[in-house]
Amino acid sequence: MQNRKQLYFSHKQTPELAKVVEPLKERAEKEGFTIVSNYRQADIIASIGGDNAFLQAIQKTEFKEDSLYVGISLDNLGFYTDFHINDTDHLMSSIANDEVEVRRYHTLEVTLDNESPFYCLNECSLRSNVIKTFVIDVYIDDTYFETFRGDGMIVSTPSGSTGYNKSVRGAIVDPRIPSMQVSEIASINNNDYRTLGTSFILSEDRQLKLKIVQDGNDHPIIGTDNEALSIRHAHELRIRLADKNIKVLKLKNNSFWDSIQRKFL
Ligand code: NAD
Repeated sequence: MQNRKQLYFSHKQTPELAKVVEPLKERAEKEGFTIVSNYRQADIIASIGGDNAFLQAIQKTEFKEDSLYVGISLDNLGFYTDFHINDTDHLMSSIANDEVEVRRYHTLEVTLDNESPFYCLNECSLRSNVIKTFVIDVYIDDTYFETFRGDGMIVSTPSGSTGYNKSVRGAIVDPRIPSMQVSEIASINNNDYRTLGTSFILSEDRQLKLKIVQDGNDHPIIGTDNEALSIRHAHELRIRLADKNIKVLKLKNNSFWDSIQRKFL
């Protein structure tokens, strides 16, 4: 941390937010940091806002592996944000007193047909864009597993398992377990159509292939964290745990399970 001095701020470009962030920038400069306007030069990237701002910061700065990310919230603390904008003293003293640690979060690598891969920190979701059942052939390591019919599927990272995945009754996975979880969104299960009907978790060396059955559904919505990809004529998604890990500055006394308890119980 001591050697990291090039600091980039990621936030919505509104006059109100610029006003809120200005004192933080001044404070950081007094502490010896240099504020950079190009994230490629940064070794620390501070996201200002909630979890959604954090997810956008990661996507916009291209999952920069040599940077340390820090989430600074404007209101309640989230899953990726351990610090509050009105409590910069706490942030600075935590760093000075060695009360922080770097946590590594797994990401997903998603390849659509023959395009370049893209990455997700929470999840990749695949949904129909028409009111019609969506049919997906699911393969694990190139072996046919099942045919899904319903609204769509979610593939989440462990840290994303508390997001969209949880809303469809997926399990919460400890981010220390390198894995990805596959969950259904409203599958049809009857005597004609059958899927596993529960979420399943794949280990880090598995590859998942989702083949879209082109039955009027060749324009699906592909969600990557909080962005939708506008891709026409998608045929096949290949998803695996990426080699890229994201490094996030967290308070030592705020473990993943502390956040779960604080947010959900
Ligand atoms: P948003 O800003 O409306 O955020 C939705 C909520 O999800 C917020 O309370 C946020 O704190 C929380 N969240 C984000 N990442 C989380 C995580 N890893 N664990 C626990 N909570 C998390 O929505 P957005 O910015 O458009 O999307 C961000 C995320 O919201 C997506 O990546 C997805 O996980 C989630 N989402 C959930 C649903 C759902 O539950 N039905 C639908 C769409 C998106």
